[in-house]
Amino acid sequence: MDDEKPYVVCLTFDFDALSVWLGGYAVVTPAMLSRGEYGARVGVPRILDLLAAHDIPATFFVPGHTAESFPDSVESILQAGHELAHHGYGHYDLSAQTPDEERLSLERGLAVLGRFVADPPIGYRSPSWDYSAATLSLLVEYGFLYDSSLFADDFHPYHPRLGDQVGADEPLQMGDEADLWEFPVDFCLDDWPHFTFNFDPLRVGLSASSKVFEIWAGEFDYMIGHEQSGVLTLTMHPQVIGRGHRMALLERVIQHVLSSGSAYFARMGDVARELSAGDAN
Ligand SMILES: [Zn+2]
Repeated sequence: MDDEKPYVVCLTFDFDALSVWLGGYAVVTPAMLSRGEYGARVGVPRILDLLAAHDIPATFFVPGHTAESFPDSVESILQAGHELAHHGYGHYDLSAQTPDEERLSLERGLAVLGRFVADPPIGYRSPSWDYSAATLSLLVEYGFLYDSSLFADDFHPYHPRLGDQVGADEPLQMGDEADLWEFPVDFCLDDWPHFTFNFDPLRVGLSASSKVFEIWAGEFDYMIGHEQSGVLTLTMHPQVIGRGHRMALLERVIQHVLSSGSAYFARMGDVARELSAGDAN
């Protein structure tokens, strides 16, 4: 976020592979698991090639389950200079876990990622894009610098709150801001709901990539047209964006951002460090 280029775009990839099917679906078949494997076999190499062609750094949120299943993919991500961030061990809905199970998943994920990197990851994204009552305090306890799972803003990272009180018949009483940055997400900026066909009328997917370009470029254009500065977070999955016509969409988005002349791409962890340094001044 410098004066000449006050806008940042964070390309984030949730490398779920098989874990998203095993953790979120009642019946898991070989064909569903093979959709996850596509992310490792095809998606990750294509994404790394495209990012290298444009010299773009990115952030990969990787479940421990994926890192243990496809260690070579994780090594290739790191060798290319991208950030490795925490995405649970299994791909679970945190609100369905007990606090002990959630802590265990967090620790197991940290232990697995610790085999690949010297320093523990500073970023976290909930597998379910949701928190349990315990999540935020766990992230603070384990020293994460940022999270990217919540929705309360669009272009401005913020501090989520601990200890909010609210009910259907009780107005919101705000708790205290946590010492951690939230990089907000949104389903319209996530490739999964746009594209992934789930045999479910509510999750039909299979959008045209032109429609998704209109939405993603539209959010970027609004940011640079209406905000003094900002961070736009795109969420993609190698098993989804890795398809040829969707890789062409991603390249088109990259070119759209670069052609503005006022934005650059950064790893989320680097933006979080910069924001924290600004906070300390
Ligand atoms: Zn995920």
